[in-house]
Amino acid sequence: MPLTYIPRDLDYVPPPGQEVTRIETHHDDLFQATDVPLRAWNRPLDLPPEDPTLGLCARHRLMDLKRSDFGPRRFSQQLPPEWYLGTYTEVAARGSWCKVCQLVAEACDDIAWPDEADIVMSWIGDVRWRKKAGHDDELSGTWETLRLRVRSVMIGRAPPFTPFDLVPLGREGELFQGRCLKEGQIDLDRVRAWLKCCREWHGGECSHWMKQQSVSESITSATFDPFIRLIDLEENCLVERSDLVPYVALSYVWGRATVFKTREETIDELRKPGGVLEKKALFPRSLRDAMTLAQRLGYRYIWIDSICIIQNDDTDTYQNLDKRHQIGQMGKIYQYADLTIVAASGEDANAGLPGVEPGTRLGKQKEVKISDDLTIMNRSVAWPDALLRTTWEERGWTYQERILSLRYMYFVDDTVHFQCQRATWSEDFAAESPDLALSAADQVVDFSHIPSEVPPPIELRPNLKFQLKRYPELVGQYTCRNMTFITDRVNGIQGILNVIKDHFFSQDVEFVHGMPTGELLHPGLLWRPRLEPKRIHVDEKKGRPVWPSWSWAGWTVPVYYDYGADFSANNTGRYQANISLGPDPYFLHLRARVGRFRLMIEDRGNEDAVPPLPRVRPTRLTRYAITHATNPDGGDEEWIGSIWLTWSYRRKFVEHQLKLISRVTQEFIILSDADKFEREELVEASTAEKRAVVNVMMIERKEDPGTDGRVRIERAGVGRMYRDAWDGVEEKWERFELG
Ligand SMILES: [Zn+2]
Ligand SMILES: [Zn+2]
Repeated sequence: MPLTYIPRDLDYVPPPGQEVTRIETHHDDLFQATDVPLRAWNRPLDLPPEDPTLGLCARHRLMDLKRSDFGPRRFSQQLPPEWYLGTYTEVAARGSWCKVCQLVAEACDDIAWPDEADIVMSWIGDVRWRKKAGHDDELSGTWETLRLRVRSVMIGRAPPFTPFDLVPLGREGELFQGRCLKEGQIDLDRVRAWLKCCREWHGGECSHWMKQQSVSESITSATFDPFIRLIDLEENCLVERSDLVPYVALSYVWGRATVFKTREETIDELRKPGGVLEKKALFPRSLRDAMTLAQRLGYRYIWIDSICIIQNDDTDTYQNLDKRHQIGQMGKIYQYADLTIVAASGEDANAGLPGVEPGTRLGKQKEVKISDDLTIMNRSVAWPDALLRTTWEERGWTYQERILSLRYMYFVDDTVHFQCQRATWSEDFAAESPDLALSAADQVVDFSHIPSEVPPPIELRPNLKFQLKRYPELVGQYTCRNMTFITDRVNGIQGILNVIKDHFFSQDVEFVHGMPTGELLHPGLLWRPRLEPKRIHVDEKKGRPVWPSWSWAGWTVPVYYDYGADFSANNTGRYQANISLGPDPYFLHLRARVGRFRLMIEDRGNEDAVPPLPRVRPTRLTRYAITHATNPDGGDEEWIGSIWLTWSYRRKFVEHQLKLISRVTQEFIILSDADKFEREELVEASTAEKRAVVNVMMIERKEDPGTDGRVRIERAGVGRMYRDAWDGVEEKWERFELG
């Protein structure tokens, strides 16, 4: 089998804000051979005999690593092949005489299933930069370096360890090479240099304050309404400001730590100069470290939620109004911060920022000298995958902080990383250059899944900022995160919604209970649960659930919208319900066509077509098939659509003609026209005869009366069915109040 490489797409750099793009390689047309191993890395190797006295195992002698293997090289070349090292257990055993195997085994710090985990080393593109044509045309064009990613094939749905990278250790001042971590404490000069480089090279793109400075007329205008509270690190007290000053925001998780909170009773003391200093010993460690770091970086102000927002829980007081005002501005607070410090180490607010104080972190870095020419080192965990292991990334509140800030400093796994709109820099890798076009941190690297030695396809990481425009993706990601208090379910995303409303939506769109109204009310109603949906609890004072059934906030599960759904207004269909927000915005008023159908168990969908999201447990299928209330032909019950509902409806099922069918009929209303069934609902969608499809809602009638004679209903679930299934249904329109 000849080795043929397909060059990667040349010079591909995404325009700012562009969506994830997969670079296509047309493997199937090119490789028809059948006598090749299934995975590229699993190729037969002509290994020399093992000789423990040589310091390298047979594989690593054959691999013959040299510094030049890591580049720099022209970007258009093919990647070298992947290397299979054996299972973790085999690698660890060879570690007693091979220093590379030893490094790999030690760096797999979270290994599960050591006997099954197949370890593969892949070359991946790392830093990409451009040299402009000049005197030296030999050097112009796009260049890149490579690094080795060590990873494993998934076992089930999980990788047996977190992938990490090996890079060559550079000499002082050498770019695009590994760098020694300073043990015990962060290198403050390095961290300051990142801020300086970002300010000089990127300016207002990475800082609202700098942007505002460049537009003279807006300097005096108020940014916050009426104000935000900041900790003044010079006067050591809380101050209230409505104008924009350079400040640091802290993003962290409270966890189980006892968090000092500013309360109605303490606010006056904290406002007095020196007042914060008196209480500082009571603050959790992450907060104290962040204050210290902000000051060392030259900032006078820092914003920390538990200190800057009055935290009393009682309703209807002045302070509660203050809390609501401040929470409403949280989106802006993170968006306008000059820097967001992210405390992503540990489980709670006492974890601290490792390395801010001397001796508070361990150096996990390991180096191996291969030759006089090359020393390789491991980077703790491939950034930003390291974040996926943190509690911080699981929490609901931190979602908007992650999306809205423009400049971050992450403390994770005893390493500091810097990320802004244009660059990603880490303590353990030198990449501070204004010409940086792309780096490994921007890519998702896959295995080569095909019978050839074609390098793995490269996918760019989704640009978080881009998602700002995409309400369906935002809600999908946000609802997968955990909220300690389910009553924060809307508060935690309100900041983002406020920001995107101002930037991307028309005047007509407001967000109510986390849901878009106006022209986006119709598509907004079509969210689906990923797990069995459970209704949120009842608010005792109001005597009804905290949020209505038509909002995803009214249920306690992760939700999603159709993958790639066209989330836009569509108000044309003949069967389309007429929907508007009622005078009490808990209720929607609607006039809709009603019909009766039965549920049955028949799954025609493809479960794998449900878009994957991080950290979602395997779903218990809560999808049902829909069939006619009365069988028109007397034969098998026809599958006419599907719907997502709670598990409880199965109790009403009986066996009938070898199918499980509900004894009772259920009421449905038509919401709007749909394009088609998605693959997750009907796998043969592409081949089935063309039949028009409608979005439907199954409803439950409530006992209590609605306003102006409307019948009060709740959402049981939303699904899709064939429109012609309604042809035999009595033409009946009703006015409802949906709560
Ligand atoms: Zn080895
Ligand atoms: Zn920047």
